[in-house]
Amino acid sequence: MSYRCTICDGSFTEIPEDALEITGGRGYRSRHPALFRFSDGTVHALRKVPVKKQQPQEPSPEPKENSELLLEANVLAELPTPPTQPVPQPEPKTEPLPPIEPDIEETSISAMRLAWQQRSSK
Ligand SMILES: [Zn+2]
Repeated sequence: MSYRCTICDGSFTEIPEDALEITGGRGYRSRHPALFRFSDGTVHALRKVPVKKQQPQEPSPEPKENSELLLEANVLAELPTPPTQPVPQPEPKTEPLPPIEPDIEETSISAMRLAWQQRSSK
């Protein structure tokens, strides 16, 4: 429960225990503000304020903003949607791997050797 002063419009979460109730009696228990003299000498007319009303309410959006948003939406809708083109993939820059071939020299040599051996065997 919170209290709001009808004089200075100050809000108080609770009435200080040392506050002296001027109006006396059941004043602060009713909806009518009750005068309290605080220990610092100030007098406040405190009235109970439900906590729910203390919460700020969401400001309702103005119609103007809504119309602008709708207008923007319409403009966006009128714009031709760009065709979804496939992103051109860059050519792979990787060096072409050398063809895996048997060692030509080795085979040629062995072939020559084989031929030589065949020739010499004759
Ligand atoms: Zn006050």
